[in-house]
Amino acid sequence: MHSSETPAPWNTEKISENAKGILFVISGPSGVGKTSIIRSVLERVDRVVFSVSCTTRKQRPGEIHGVDYYFITHEEFEKMIEEQKFIEWAKVHDNYYGTPAEMVYENINKGIDVILDIDVQGALTVKKNFSGAKFVFVAPPSYSVLRERLKKRGTETEDKIQRRLDTARKELLHIPEFEYLIINEDLEESIRNLSSIIFAERLKYERLRDTIKVNKLFEEVR
Ligand code: 5GP
Repeated sequence: MHSSETPAPWNTEKISENAKGILFVISGPSGVGKTSIIRSVLERVDRVVFSVSCTTRKQRPGEIHGVDYYFITHEEFEKMIEEQKFIEWAKVHDNYYGTPAEMVYENINKGIDVILDIDVQGALTVKKNFSGAKFVFVAPPSYSVLRERLKKRGTETEDKIQRRLDTARKELLHIPEFEYLIINEDLEESIRNLSSIIFAERLKYERLRDTIKVNKLFEEVR
C-alpha cells in the first residue's frame, strides 16, 4: 500500500485495471539485500503483494509465521509437494523452500501483481513453467561485499556462511538468464529501480491492449 509520505511517481493502476497481474520473480544470493528492497517496494507501490513461501528452516528471531514465511515441518512440506500445491520448490542449504500456488494465481487473476523472493534454481523452474513472468536478479556490488554483509548479519555460523558464499558464486553465474539486473549498492536506488521495473512492465502496450479502456479508445477513433 501507499503511504502518504511516499506517493507513487505514476498512477499505473487507473490505466491497467482489467489487465491481469504480473508475476515478478526476484532472485539473487542470500544476504544481497533482496528482502529489504522488496519490503520497501511493497510499502510504496500499489496493487502488488508478496508471496509468502513455505519453508522447513528454523524461524529466525524477529520473523513472523505467515508474514516472512510459513514455517512448516518436512512432513508437511513433502505432503504439499505430493499434492502439487507449489508453483516451484527447491532444497536450499538442506531446507525446503516453496511457493504456494493458490495465492499467486488468485492475485494474478484479480489483476494484482505478485512478487516472489526465491533462489536461482526456483527462478529457473518458474521460467520454464510460467509464461509471462518477469525475472529480476539482485547482485552485490562485489563478492567481497557479499561476504561482509553475510558476516555482519550474524544469524549464521562460519560454516553456514561459507556454504552460502559457495552457493552465491554459482548463482551469480546465472545472471545472463535474467531480464533485469539490479546491483544493490545503495538501498534507496535499488528500491527505485525495482519500482521502475514494475511500473514499466505495467505500461507495456502488449499487456494493455485487451483492456476495456484501450478497446474503447480504438472504437472511438476507428
Ligand atoms: P533465507 O533462509 O535466507 O530466508 O533464504 C534462503 C534462500 O531461499 C534465499 O535465496 C531465498 O530467496 C530463497 N527462498 C525463499 N523462499 C523460497 C521459495 O519459495 N522457493 C525457492 N526456490 N527459494 C526460496
